[in-house]
Amino acid sequence: MNRTARFAAVAATVVGAFLATAGAATAAEPTPPIGAATVQPVRSACPELDDCYGPDEMSAFGAEAVRQVNRYAQQMRPDVPLPLYRILERGTSATSSCVDGYGDPEADENAAFYCSADQTVYLGEEALWTFYGSYGDAAAMLVVAHEWGHHLQFAGGGPEATDLELENQADCIGGSFLGELAHDGTFRLRDVADIARILPDSSENGPDRTHGSLTERTSAVALGAARGLTACDRYVPGSDLATTF
Ligand SMILES: [Zn+2]
Repeated sequence: MNRTARFAAVAATVVGAFLATAGAATAAEPTPPIGAATVQPVRSACPELDDCYGPDEMSAFGAEAVRQVNRYAQQMRPDVPLPLYRILERGTSATSSCVDGYGDPEADENAAFYCSADQTVYLGEEALWTFYGSYGDAAAMLVVAHEWGHHLQFAGGGPEATDLELENQADCIGGSFLGELAHDGTFRLRDVADIARILPDSSENGPDRTHGSLTERTSAVALGAARGLTACDRYVPGSDLATTF
């Protein structure tokens, strides 16, 4: 499996996408990625992530989202190395090892995708601001956890599957992360509204869709939130998301 999964593009044109395309071989640039050891802690001045970061502070917000998703990833699958995360500042770009539906390997401020060829999640500041500013912190966290889900599908040794199966499962995995946040009290009622608003803008319809319909996406996120990571196996035949090897 060598593929790219993109959550969404930005602004009105962006949130609908979560594109999935075949990967290509281009060298990634040596910009330092964000790893678990380099992310910054949440600002002490803000009691919650919502209404805390401005549009020019999306790198800091993204680092916090990555920190929380990494913590969940290490808790659930300590045997699977974390992906790299690269947050693209506005006006900058990087060459990923994957290409999008137009054959373009560039990741920029609008990026929100996982590239399996370099096991990196690319997140652009503008994309993060759209998710965070338009929908709320929980929506942005869902996107990051969804992309980690694609890494788990790839690096965790999951079976081959259709794009739609993988996208619905990634939504479920993202939901399982939100469920964990609900357990510890981080995920609250206002966060449910974030999810209720982003899913209609990022769902697809029609027989050739690569991402779930609103019903599919909603039920996948809800299942993961209610039943946890292993419940997401049902979306991909032969999947075993709990396997440790
Ligand atoms: Zn995806």
